[in-house]
Amino acid sequence: MSLVVMKFGGTSVEDATAIDRTAAIVAGRIALGKKPVVVVSAMSKVTDQLLTAAAAASRGDRTGALAISSRLRSRHRDTAAALLTNPSEIAALRNWIESEFDALDEVLRGLAAILELTPRISDLIVSYGERLSSAIIARAFAQRGLNGAHVDARDIIITDSQYQKAVPNDALIEARCAEILRPLVDASQVPVLGGFIGSNEAGITTTLGRGGSDFTGALLGGAMNAEAIEIWTDVNGIMTTDPRICPDALRVKVISFEEAAELAYFGAKVLHPATILPAVRKNIPVLVLNSRNPANDGTRIIALAPHCNSPFKCIAVKRKLTIIDVVASRMLMTHGYLKSIFDIFDKHQCPVDMVSTSEVSVSLTVDSNDKLPAIADDLSRIADVKYEGQKALVCMVGEDIRGQNGIAAQVFSAVRHVNVRMISQGASEINMSFMIEESDVEEAVRSLHAAFFANPDPAVFDVEARQPAAR
Ligand code: ADP
Ligand code: ASP
Ligand code: MG
Repeated sequence: MSLVVMKFGGTSVEDATAIDRTAAIVAGRIALGKKPVVVVSAMSKVTDQLLTAAAAASRGDRTGALAISSRLRSRHRDTAAALLTNPSEIAALRNWIESEFDALDEVLRGLAAILELTPRISDLIVSYGERLSSAIIARAFAQRGLNGAHVDARDIIITDSQYQKAVPNDALIEARCAEILRPLVDASQVPVLGGFIGSNEAGITTTLGRGGSDFTGALLGGAMNAEAIEIWTDVNGIMTTDPRICPDALRVKVISFEEAAELAYFGAKVLHPATILPAVRKNIPVLVLNSRNPANDGTRIIALAPHCNSPFKCIAVKRKLTIIDVVASRMLMTHGYLKSIFDIFDKHQCPVDMVSTSEVSVSLTVDSNDKLPAIADDLSRIADVKYEGQKALVCMVGEDIRGQNGIAAQVFSAVRHVNVRMISQGASEINMSFMIEESDVEEAVRSLHAAFFANPDPAVFDVEARQPAAR
């Protein structure tokens, strides 16, 4: 059966006009004989605003928190009213929205009294974004003849209890899909679920981490053996770099699962890093498409991409990183020393991105986070430790980088005016990365883009899109 999972990000559902476009895209798929399962994010910026409200309440700023919630209440109410025409349906949806916000306000008031924001409460508060958007969009679909059926994602995406970064339970998700989603699809209904949110086996709300709606889409695609997983966003697909940094970035037409996973992990926000895994397991193609330009072919992520004559496919950037230098004059090369360092990161559940060692020191990079003082404190028991934030990792992804002579010289010549702090090449055949100051990111990426994407391979990159500007 031609089941397709369609995930729409925050900008694709940001207001009534965007939701209308989304409905038209889904209708287009149905007209092609496909059976869509729709996953939606919270309306754009809602997740950030809910987190700001939670932070305000936990500082005791009850008025500030409730003011944010009140603005969100009006936005959702107005969007719902703009999407529906039948007055009794508008009234029913409005009452439901009011009751959801009343419940959210109760939580915010409680938080302002307790003054302690736990990860569990944070997940509960932030879940309102997707709970509201998905219910409103399901009603809007139903009114547009799409047979939309709202499904609470927390009944399907069952996870462990690691709040804010919960790990999905594939077997239970598959069972819930078979039990709840499959009958709807078989009855030609269009299930609409919020992305990002789930619940543990006890029914307590969890989330999959920021940007996690892509992951929800991929989990459902994997569990239901979809023929494709479509990620609808606000750009034409995976581009040669973030178009916000380089407006002349080109669309990558086709890329491998492996390359896309590296890009996502190393900062290309267009795709959540965990998205690829469920697709790889079942060999389901992932398409990245633009909801503002649905006729564009987007990017196709598949198991084996065709050969590419350009050395790189894409430049990704991961900001807000910290370099930690650990110096121990005699101990570094002793047996088990590196393990003792990594054990400390493990204890604090802090993933390490890049590592480089010398005779007496080891440098590591991690996401800047509030665990750093405690990690540095533990490390200082075995070595001298320094850490420095506001660093960024630039990651160049391409086919067989290891096998290309002189490629490193070309990369570092392009960024010769930038101070490069750490370099990693060779760990993976398809990735070369280095650390720079965050303030140098724009200049470094533009120089690299100019150096490596002047004459891109037309089989892989959308070079036609560049021609009108060049004329
Ligand atoms: P959504 O809300 O649809 O999930 P996101 O904001 O998470 O959208 O991701 C889309 C954004 O990712 C784009 O607007 C773009 O600025 C950014 N981005 C970063 N790197 C890339 C890249 N290589 N290709 C395309 N977009 C990128
Ligand atoms: N709404 C969530 C976020 O902003 C999840 C997502 O959009 O993918 O992180
Ligand atoms: Mg996203």
